[in-house]
Amino acid sequence: GSPRFGLIWFDGKFVPVDKPLVTLTTHAIHYGTSAFEGIRAYWDSDELRIFRLRDHVRRLRRSGAYYSMRLRYTDRELMDGMAGLCRRNRVKESCYIRPFYFVGEHGINLHVTRAAPTHVAMLVLPLRDIFDKGGISAEIVGRRKFSDLSTPVQAKMGGNYLNSIIATQEAKRGGFDEAILLDHRGDVSEAPGENIFVVKGGRLHTPPSSSSALDGITRDTVMRLAEDLGYSASARRISKERLLGADEVFLTGTAAEIVPVVRIGKKRIGRRPGPITEELMQEYQRTVAGRNPRYSRWLTGVYG
Ligand code: PMP
Repeated sequence: GSPRFGLIWFDGKFVPVDKPLVTLTTHAIHYGTSAFEGIRAYWDSDELRIFRLRDHVRRLRRSGAYYSMRLRYTDRELMDGMAGLCRRNRVKESCYIRPFYFVGEHGINLHVTRAAPTHVAMLVLPLRDIFDKGGISAEIVGRRKFSDLSTPVQAKMGGNYLNSIIATQEAKRGGFDEAILLDHRGDVSEAPGENIFVVKGGRLHTPPSSSSALDGITRDTVMRLAEDLGYSASARRISKERLLGADEVFLTGTAAEIVPVVRIGKKRIGRRPGPITEELMQEYQRTVAGRNPRYSRWLTGVYG
């Protein structure tokens, strides 16, 4: 079908989404040399608000920097580009913004340097819930999360997502909604595109970066909101046994937001989403809608 929002941003210009812009020799297609972000903007009370835009742009720049990829625009230009893209497309609904930059014409050459040509693009897409917020099933898959010993875990690079894709395929083949990956040592790491939290005795825990989990922006948001609500929330290693013995389990991510996990393999984790998970889901929606005055700095108004 035709895309809902017809304009994209490419190297500083607004262009129609169906216009061909790159060739088949593009390095990123062959080697996964693309750095990307997923950002949500929320429509509420006649304003579209982009959530934690600055933090996403910072991570975007850091991701490519691990690979010496040049990002030829300032943070301000990128942020203005995304807000402008929403305006130019007259977006008046909650949406997803996908900025990315990638290595262009660089030949059969694995030596990527600051001299390698890069392109920058941004898309805006309609996006509703990607999981059932009433609770999902998950499987601890056999495939492990790659470790920082192999490739930088904090770099959100296209190539890294092959690990997520193979894990998702494994979980779906077993009839589960989502995968949970263990790290190379056998402790809980994260889901293919979400961080994971366990709740036990009113305390929240999420695996640390040393468990090869992405430092998710939603993970950070949830830890702050949890503390504001009077719960302790910290990063610590989580064994498979602790995961299965949790009172509540949920996933966090920009696209997923907060999703309760109510079954892991054969084990039920509560019959319904747990009370702390539900409280956080509500507080998260209040925050992204601009109704939590403590965090108004996290929102960038597109029209106002
Ligand atoms: N882990 C992985 C592997 C992801 O791709 C994502 C989505 N960016 C997350 C965690 C969640 O990160 P965030 O909350 O910043 O979207």
